[in-house]
Amino acid sequence: ASTTLSRIGLAGLAVMGQNLALNIGEKGFPISVYNRTTSKVDETIERAKREGDLPLTGHYTPRDFVLSIQRPRSVIILVKAGSPVDQTISALTQFMEPGDTIIDGGNEWYENTERRIHEVSEKGLLYLGMGVSGGEEGARFGPSLMPGGSYEAYKNVEDIVKKVAAQVEDGPCVTFIGEGGAGNFVKMVHNGIEYGDMQLISEAYDVLKVVGGLSNEELCEVFTEWNNGELESFLVEITADIFRVKDEITGEGELVDKILDKTGMKGTGKWTVQQAAELSVAAPTIAASLDGRYLSGLKDERENAAKVLWEAGMREGEEVEAIRSKVDKKRLIDDVRQALYVSKICSYAQGMNLLRAKSLEKNWDLNLGELARIWKGGCIIRAVFLDRIKKAYQRNPGLPNLIVDPEFAREMVQRQAAWRRVVGLAVQAGISTPGMCASLGYFDTYRRKSLPANLVQAQRDYFGAHTYERIDRSGAFHTEWAKLA
Ligand code: NAP
Repeated sequence: ASTTLSRIGLAGLAVMGQNLALNIGEKGFPISVYNRTTSKVDETIERAKREGDLPLTGHYTPRDFVLSIQRPRSVIILVKAGSPVDQTISALTQFMEPGDTIIDGGNEWYENTERRIHEVSEKGLLYLGMGVSGGEEGARFGPSLMPGGSYEAYKNVEDIVKKVAAQVEDGPCVTFIGEGGAGNFVKMVHNGIEYGDMQLISEAYDVLKVVGGLSNEELCEVFTEWNNGELESFLVEITADIFRVKDEITGEGELVDKILDKTGMKGTGKWTVQQAAELSVAAPTIAASLDGRYLSGLKDERENAAKVLWEAGMREGEEVEAIRSKVDKKRLIDDVRQALYVSKICSYAQGMNLLRAKSLEKNWDLNLGELARIWKGGCIIRAVFLDRIKKAYQRNPGLPNLIVDPEFAREMVQRQAAWRRVVGLAVQAGISTPGMCASLGYFDTYRRKSLPANLVQAQRDYFGAHTYERIDRSGAFHTEWAKLA
């Protein structure tokens, strides 16, 4: 350890911590690093040397680590969410002093952050729950950062986070999100939107591959081309790359075809859907992506169902054959591009509305346009069209739904014929597109002046005397339905 004090510290040197520490050092901020298993400290210091003699200093005990940082101290923690964070906080805070700050950069449940803000405040410590997105690359070269909690704590590190974050033309991809667990909540919804994007892209792939008969090479070309237009985004870009990678183990074909069709998950998507339900916000596309992951996990059951749920003599794929022979490939590709784009708009509208509902409940005063801006770079959902979302909320901060912003509304109306063709073909062919269908259902429900909810109200009143309102006069009405029927 050196004798001069570091500007900041970082504890937890797994993938995210190690890369973020190197990034901070590279931006010129001397940083102390620590990890429970000390071999990772040495490993990180080695990397710091190799990657340009970066100003990192390694420490082997919580005490040495904390005391090596200049006051007021800011310490970033990047360990597994949950109790490891509590353990790390208690190990470090015994050496910290009033005015110092803990910054948890993990994917933490926002209420844990709110509890910890309260706990550390008893020692006079400040706290930030800071969502970090962008995976390994982002952490190393510029993530999107979503810090929430103490504004004073944010001000202490503002110069650092603004340099470390990804840079886009309208500034660094970081902003003070709001009080309490706002930063973690926004990161959670970011991940929920990411689930939706990935599901929608996988459906586009499925339709093009199964109905359109596209080869991996053709899929690579299509996604590469899409990445030059309105769909330009990190996820579309890496999807194009994926189709190019050969299988090295067998030496035959592409790796994507050798991957078992079972999706893993760590919980942020589930939390997003739970929160949407808690707040009565419809988020069908994000929910469909979560359900898609659950169903993908039932590989054995699906194999059995593939035997029993096709008509006698028919096999999975036979309907498809008939349809495939009739589709015009070029047109299908263009239709799927449009369907993907508008499905995505609906999914973002859901995520944004969830954020707004939570902001009202918690008094966070979230700035939706600014959130779209900090997602333009660094994070997994970074995309050109986030700039349009930013502008939509700038035009009208009270916009009730992204899909009625005049620009998005025009795009959706223009693309709906293509969208319906894709979903229609998929339905006919028995190719599930739950995300695109959920988005279309959301669109079609939201834009209808009248819904069949009148019948549901009648049923509720029939069996439960829940009363109903009328379209022609005010007040609550109840009818003795059984007597009149
Ligand atoms: P991780 O696998 O989630 O966690 C490993 C780190 O946690 C190691 O430093 C480990 O220390 C430490 N740890 C575990 N239990 C501990 C305990 N009881 N006490 C002290 N330290 C403990 O690491 P990660 O993938 O870098 O992720 C860190 C955080 O960032 C997580 O919240 C994750 O969800 C979030 N995140 C990850 C990504 C990503 O792409 N990986 C992206 C965004 C956000 P030892 O070495 O001593 O075991």
